[in-house]
Amino acid sequence: MAEANIVADDQPPPPEARAFKGFTHRACEYYPCHHGVRRAFNCLFCYCPLIERECPGPYRLFTDMRGTTRKDCSACRLAHDGIHPSWAFIQRWLDAPPFRGQPQSRARIRALSQALRQKPRTL
Ligand code: SF4
Repeated sequence: MAEANIVADDQPPPPEARAFKGFTHRACEYYPCHHGVRRAFNCLFCYCPLIERECPGPYRLFTDMRGTTRKDCSACRLAHDGIHPSWAFIQRWLDAPPFRGQPQSRARIRALSQALRQKPRTL
């Protein structure tokens, strides 16, 4: 019976196996850490994987004590709003180019979004 649950690495997971896409940790002392989330709060991306990538989030820039330009993501809900939507959002933007300290702009988001739309999607 156990063999029925084995999925080859190159196959997507079966539709009923979706628990890996996120969870809500209501007992966390920081919950809800981002305000304005309307759907199920996804805590899986507490440390957003897109911090080192270009992303469409409403980040602001700050300079850390070593002089490195970093994102302040306090106002972003994209990695948390809805279990499946936030999972799909992160998967899509993981293909974005590395973040190089540029301020956020609508023009850059549009260009990156178009470029990502042309890439084949795996999940
Ligand atoms: S702005 Fe949002 S999507 Fe972008 S890195 Fe920060 S938390 Fe992630």
